[in-house]
Amino acid sequence: MRILVTGGAGYIGSHTCVELLQQGHEVIVVDNLCNSKEDSLKRVQELTGRKLTFFKIDLLDRKSLIDLFDTLSVEAVIHFAGLKSVGESVNLPLRYYHNNVTGTMLLCEVMAEHNVTTMVFSSSATVYGEPKTVPIDENAPLAPTNPYGRSKLMIETVLKDLHAADKRWNIALLRYFNPVGAHPSGLIGESPQGIPNNLFPYITQVAVGMLSKLSIFGDDYPTADGTGIRDYVHVLDVARGHTKALERLAERPGVVTYNLGTGKGYTVLEVVSAFEKSSGRKIPYQIVSRRAGDSAESYADTSLIKSELGWVAEKGIDEMCADAWNWQSKNPRGYT
Ligand code: NAD
Ligand code: UDP
Repeated sequence: MRILVTGGAGYIGSHTCVELLQQGHEVIVVDNLCNSKEDSLKRVQELTGRKLTFFKIDLLDRKSLIDLFDTLSVEAVIHFAGLKSVGESVNLPLRYYHNNVTGTMLLCEVMAEHNVTTMVFSSSATVYGEPKTVPIDENAPLAPTNPYGRSKLMIETVLKDLHAADKRWNIALLRYFNPVGAHPSGLIGESPQGIPNNLFPYITQVAVGMLSKLSIFGDDYPTADGTGIRDYVHVLDVARGHTKALERLAERPGVVTYNLGTGKGYTVLEVVSAFEKSSGRKIPYQIVSRRAGDSAESYADTSLIKSELGWVAEKGIDEMCADAWNWQSKNPRGYT
């Protein structure tokens, strides 16, 4: 299949390009590189021994998108491109809504004009907001608590409406929990700009000596050790979820929504301890106050994707830690 991957130079996109190329698909990447480096794509090709085609295009640039669809017969789109920082979205909501929502709407318009109606979309567990109960299944209430999460929910709504209006649209909405880790080769991985917001890249940067210590946001949650619980899922399992979703859409068209997680939650202290064991490095930490907007506990009910697609996460916390450490120790400053 000839697949257009938007945001393919980014963290999850680059790992998914590896999976697609290894499965024999033809890959075209569109990315404006606002949060990534073209190096990731060079390494994807080095790793797989296969070529992909890259266009530095902003999704908001309708003319360039049209030119691309005019010249290449795209069969399906995996749509990762988007801004993803929760904190930044609170301060810059218009930037988030414009980039994420308008960008997706422009993409869909151009797709429809070219009769391309299959899309796998990167949604997020943030659409659930503060969960009432765990594990969280796909029918749980949707109540995102920040503009980033609301942009994801808006896009989900737009895509469902598109399908309702025109049944040619085949759409998989994948709600990722906490993608972490890296390709075991150590060639590609997560390379955040500036100080990381997320737990895993923060820990790996402490381990490599770029940051002095981890701040743990709260130890007074109602969990076993008081620290927050999340469902960390290996990025290669997440990547495989996309090819599974494409297979499903080819066999049984429609609009589907799946959680992508392991179904198991770990506290922050459990992650620190697993990471210390895998890396052999001590992670100094201090307990600080809770981070605004954080929930105590979030993990997925993964029974739907298991029963419908046969997808289950194969890699556990030890592999997530080992691969994250392998990447960071081989590339202390990421792609730069
Ligand atoms: P990332 O920032 O590494 O990748 C996103 C890519 O999109 C980047 O390469 C960026 O340059 C590109 N991009 C952004 N806006 C663009 C635009 N207007 N035009 C063209 N390219 C653009 O992020 P990621 O972690 O790989 O996440 C991929 C997707 O998954 C995002 O949509 C994100 O919201 C979603 N998601 C990520 C997580 C996570 O924890 N990483 C969790 C849930 C959902
Ligand atoms: N966390 C932390 N220190 C950090 C970053 C995160 O203690 O520097 C905690 C956070 O409070 C949450 C968990 O680690 O309980 C995962 O946070 P992350 O930002 O990676 O994911 P999200 O909260 O978006 O699910």
